[in-house]
Amino acid sequence: MTQKIKRLEAHVANQIAAGEVVQRPASLVKELLENAVDAGASEISLHIKEGGKLQVQVIDNGHGMSLQDALLCFERHATSKLTLAEDLFNLSTKGFRGEALASIAAISQVVLKTKTSEDELGTEIKISAGNFQETNQLVAPKGTSFTVNNLFFNIPARRNFLKSKQIEQRHITDEFHRLALAHPEIGFSFFADGDPLFVLPIVNFNQRIVQIFGKKTQDKLVPVSEETPQLKISGYILRPEAAKKSRGTQFFFVNKRFIKSSSLHFAVVNAFDGLIANGIHPGYFIKISVPTASIDINIHPTKTEIKFEDEHTLFAILRASIKHALGQFNIAPVLDFDRDPNLDHPYHDTKKQAVYPQISVDAFFNPFENEPLTIKDGSFKNAAVFKRITPGWESLYSGLHESAYETTLDPAEEPNAVFYEQQGTQEALFASDVSDTATGSCFQLAKKYIVTPTKSGLLLIHQSRAHQRILYEEFLINFTHKKAGSQQLLFPKIIHFTKPEVLLLEELIPSLEPLGFNMSVIDKESVSITGIPITIIADHIETVLIDFINSYQNDLLGDHFSQTDILAKALAKTMAIKTGDYLSYAAQQNIINLLFACKETLVSPFRKTIINTIQQKDLDLKFL
Ligand code: ADP
Ligand code: MG
Repeated sequence: MTQKIKRLEAHVANQIAAGEVVQRPASLVKELLENAVDAGASEISLHIKEGGKLQVQVIDNGHGMSLQDALLCFERHATSKLTLAEDLFNLSTKGFRGEALASIAAISQVVLKTKTSEDELGTEIKISAGNFQETNQLVAPKGTSFTVNNLFFNIPARRNFLKSKQIEQRHITDEFHRLALAHPEIGFSFFADGDPLFVLPIVNFNQRIVQIFGKKTQDKLVPVSEETPQLKISGYILRPEAAKKSRGTQFFFVNKRFIKSSSLHFAVVNAFDGLIANGIHPGYFIKISVPTASIDINIHPTKTEIKFEDEHTLFAILRASIKHALGQFNIAPVLDFDRDPNLDHPYHDTKKQAVYPQISVDAFFNPFENEPLTIKDGSFKNAAVFKRITPGWESLYSGLHESAYETTLDPAEEPNAVFYEQQGTQEALFASDVSDTATGSCFQLAKKYIVTPTKSGLLLIHQSRAHQRILYEEFLINFTHKKAGSQQLLFPKIIHFTKPEVLLLEELIPSLEPLGFNMSVIDKESVSITGIPITIIADHIETVLIDFINSYQNDLLGDHFSQTDILAKALAKTMAIKTGDYLSYAAQQNIINLLFACKETLVSPFRKTIINTIQQKDLDLKFL
């Protein structure tokens, strides 16, 4: 009998295990920063090169390691944080699996320098693909420095899957934010290719949020606080009007560990119910402290999901505390999306005496007085009643073009719609000559579809997706030919963003120029705009850019390959007309014409169906 089963060599086993812990440079950053926190550091700095693909270095002033520990720390299941299996249920440290360093060393080239306060000299260890290369004694400050070079250099298949520098850096920034928010009592700094992106001295939680997200956030924070014998909730929510389309500002920390939890998220969303519109996400920075024995952190290798002993109670308490915070700060009554401003008392009326309504009745009124009854086919109809309705019935239809559509272009009449795209894009849609291209008739259905007849039936066009497709193809062309028109603003417009938003815009400015944007970064939280694409109205530029940043960030996390493509998609999504926007007849015609001039007409840039046809024969079946 031949033996088929073999034990894997240690370095192969380590490489496989590494896949669980290390997916991308951001995973290294998470593990190394967590180790530094566990080592009791009060100052931690992170340095990356090329989005961490070339190098990730974390330096801390924590307790360091002796020579023996430094040699041991790269062994699998070597940890100083756990001795007994029971300890797993009583964790106060970030790490405990003793796996991270072994995994990292197996798939990169690591240089460790470390020194404890007891030792005279420090230790330097170099490892490549899990093999010790060198060990030296040297003069070093107390603490530890881990440098990880060339991640996945020995597994080209994995290396090829790493994304662009910008995308990897974004993931790293996310990890950095999570840890920096969880530990405001530690000073953090972050340098990318030598540039200081964040330098965060020790502060309290509130100030740490502002350090990261900018001064703009300061007056949008509403404190949340609740304490029961089992748990303590503290932190902040963002005022409902600061809620966004992206989920960039949603943080839960349980016992100082960032976690993701759909049920806790739902508790917050539920508390915000009615205060923010659909598709908009509330912002929150919530810290929850529970006894360590009541949670199980061990269910996910990257430790971002945990299990609570009593999730129902936690859900209820969290929701109540957020509702309470919203109520206490008088937020709930101020923002009522369904309120009809027409029903508000005009200010000058508030002091007037109420007058009783007067009712006068014409006791002699007889509606049938002058109208003879007409009797036809044995039944009778009152001609006058009939007549009162019939004149102008045609106007119900003819009015569709002039009144129902045209007038709603006035923003005042449609308080909930998003106008910048509507006005800007409607103008653009009008701009080209429709008179000679317009063919056939069409109408708008449910402010969502454009319906137009064809030879064999009906065509239903999803207005927003169609416009996304049109803009997307236009932007792709503009990116390559750099020919989009730009309007110069009379006075530069200064717009304030959060720090991460400015960082992102700074990166994107060169790519946005061919589309007609002219802007420059003034400082870490503001940008000056001097030129904008002709399709956008100057007053709407801030909303367009914020919307754009959000959808761009969301998309970065997806699996798109080219930056131009992501940019074109994000802009198309931001600037396209939306479901709920009214379209004039001419605008509808123009969308149809422009759509059919596109290379691809059937699916949106996000692979969603644009057009559906209804065949006449199917309609006929309904009338059998
Ligand atoms: P874990 O964090 O799960 O214990 P790691 O592989 O991340 O496992 O680290 C192994 C051990 O190395 C840790 O338990 C700790 O004793 C030591 N160690 C790692 N990083 C540091 C550091 N920055 N400072 C001091 N000790 C460290
Ligand atoms: Mg660790």
